[in-house]
Amino acid sequence: MLAIPYLRRTATGVWSVVSIRYRCITPGCEHAYHGKYSTEAGDKPRLYNTIALTEAHDWIVLCEGEIDTLTALQHGVPAVGVPGTESWQPHWAEPFRGYASVFVLADADDKGQGRDFAERVRKALPNAHVRPAMPGYDLNSMVADHGKAALLERIAA
Ligand SMILES: [Zn+2]
Repeated sequence: MLAIPYLRRTATGVWSVVSIRYRCITPGCEHAYHGKYSTEAGDKPRLYNTIALTEAHDWIVLCEGEIDTLTALQHGVPAVGVPGTESWQPHWAEPFRGYASVFVLADADDKGQGRDFAERVRKALPNAHVRPAMPGYDLNSMVADHGKAALLERIAA
């Protein structure tokens, strides 16, 4: 399992791990006896990489999942992730309201969950712009196959 820490800065300014999600990365595993992702029992869904919300940007990207978020960050794009398409919480809209644009980079590799997620965010945020990945891709696989340009053209104004 790949351990994905969720970090928050405490009131005293030190970093703290508030949660860890785990992603199965065993080659060929079909996750028959565990989820592709797992979390500590009782853990609540949280936004990933909220530090991006404390930096000065006119716009920000909202991704499905931690891996897509990391891919965006690796290419210099400020991004926050939701831990799964079903996890969007209405109160998560609040920190995104001040941006000129929130680019929702939805997956296009699933059975419409990416589109449904993007639609929920679009209804919650008038500044949201839904920018799906290329058909058959999520953000990470799209950038792996088509490069940074495919990401940047989705956040162009
Ligand atoms: Zn597995």
